[in-house]
Amino acid sequence: MNSKIWLSSPHMGGTEQSYVNNAFDTNWIAPLGPHVVGFESDIQEYLNQSIHVAALSSGTAALHLGLILLNVGHGDEVICQSKTFSASANPIIYQGAIPVFVDSEKDTWNICPEQLEIAIKDRISKGKKPKAIIAVHLYGMPYKAKEIGAISKKYDIPVLEDSAEALGSSYHGEKCGTFGDIAVLSFNGNKIITTSGGGALVSKNPEIKEKAVFLATQARDKAVEYLHSSIGYNYRLSNVLAGIGRGQMEVLDDRVKARRRVYEFYKESFNDIEELKFNDDHEGFYSNRWLSCVLTPSEGIREGIRLSLEKDNIETRPLWKPMHQQPVFKDYPQYLNGISDELFEKGLCLPSGSNLTDDELNRVSSAIKTYFRA
Ligand SMILES: *Cc1c(COP(=O)(O)O)cnc(C)c1O
Repeated sequence: MNSKIWLSSPHMGGTEQSYVNNAFDTNWIAPLGPHVVGFESDIQEYLNQSIHVAALSSGTAALHLGLILLNVGHGDEVICQSKTFSASANPIIYQGAIPVFVDSEKDTWNICPEQLEIAIKDRISKGKKPKAIIAVHLYGMPYKAKEIGAISKKYDIPVLEDSAEALGSSYHGEKCGTFGDIAVLSFNGNKIITTSGGGALVSKNPEIKEKAVFLATQARDKAVEYLHSSIGYNYRLSNVLAGIGRGQMEVLDDRVKARRRVYEFYKESFNDIEELKFNDDHEGFYSNRWLSCVLTPSEGIREGIRLSLEKDNIETRPLWKPMHQQPVFKDYPQYLNGISDELFEKGLCLPSGSNLTDDELNRVSSAIKTYFRA
């Protein structure tokens, strides 16, 4: 049996272990310490000097705190891009709030500005003005930040930017993770860089960061005794894991280059297979190509390719199944145009890791070529 080729596997740079050793040597084995602070300033330096970063235990925790800090509470409505991973939507339910799902547009596969505005107007006409908009840079492709930002401003509804898949992407020269009123990053094991598990909440407002750290460390008021006037969470990132993150930040630019190279390799390899379509960067959009995706002509062909690669021990996966199709979310309000359904039917994510060897990439490409020749 050929060795397994994964969709996206961790790729250490080499210095991570020395940061981890330092955490052991200094006994900072806790959800605080110098690596946590250092990792936060590394991210800040990378994204934009004028933003503030709170390192947390996961991207999901960051989304949860983001909703709390945007004052989303019981019975409130929150708009969420339907085409995403469930972690974008779950925290809405944690808050006892109601998700309202909005479909995608064709250029970026992300939240559609027209559908978004239709949804907002309709919710307002029903007397339920949404409290927040969760927009996602799917697979690293920036959403239409200018259009979404304008709608957010027009209706005075804040954006919670889910940049879990888009660290290293940018839009008109500005880094993803700097567009929303609050943004979220993830360092889960499958993401472009990883701390094994981890995340961050990002905001231009220093008070938001301060409040996020406060809530993430059990909401302890400033007093000698343990005094609490609000409900807290245990969401801070461990100093040991932040050490891994510091090493990973050193190689982030290389990781983006390598993933973009994988995407270019597939495009080049399949340029004579008319059945396969790619989603190129439009003017001003720069994707980190966290995952390389192709669109096939039909669900049957998508499954044909997936199963034939599986036989060769190559992992691929359909694009995210939209939230409005999920058993747990299907009865919530939704504003659809058919695009995310079609993308789910036809789309396939290919192995995209920055650590794929040329041999592995050639194996994927010949397996797909063989499928179309058969
Ligand atoms: C990975 C991911 C998350 C969740 O991040 P975790 O760190 O795994 O909790 C949220 N949204 C999207 C779009 C993701 O891909």
